[in-house]
Amino acid sequence: MPGSAPDFRFDAFRLSSRAGAISGTLDARSLPNVAESLVAGDDPVPIAWTIAGRASADDRPALEIDLTGSVPLVCQRCLGPVDWPVAQATEVLLARDEKELVRLDAEVDGEVILADRPLDPATLVQDELVLTLPFAPRHEGECPSARQ
Ligand SMILES: [Zn+2]
Repeated sequence: MPGSAPDFRFDAFRLSSRAGAISGTLDARSLPNVAESLVAGDDPVPIAWTIAGRASADDRPALEIDLTGSVPLVCQRCLGPVDWPVAQATEVLLARDEKELVRLDAEVDGEVILADRPLDPATLVQDELVLTLPFAPRHEGECPSARQ
């Protein structure tokens, strides 16, 4: 089914060590933490994602999460819809357990995720998408309603 959330999980450390990549498309409306920020509607909001395994600059196991798409947000000035482009690439470091998560979080500037079990791509995509969306989206320049 196009746009549905993937129903598989993957081993993040294995993907990282073999520099593999997985990709897909999911509907932002299917992501609970994102859906509430979207303009109401039934039309799907496809987000193309790629999760690529690699080593970080200091040779730690990492993933790069790429998101591409456009999401309809509510302009906080005129309350009209504003299409917000998403083009985000984020590197996250992998922690094997809670202890390593705490240690890495203290040591590095970047994002660290716990990968002590197989991960759900939809969860990673949702978390990154939430981080990339503006807290108070607005039309650039004048709002369309103000131009009329
Ligand atoms: Zn506006």
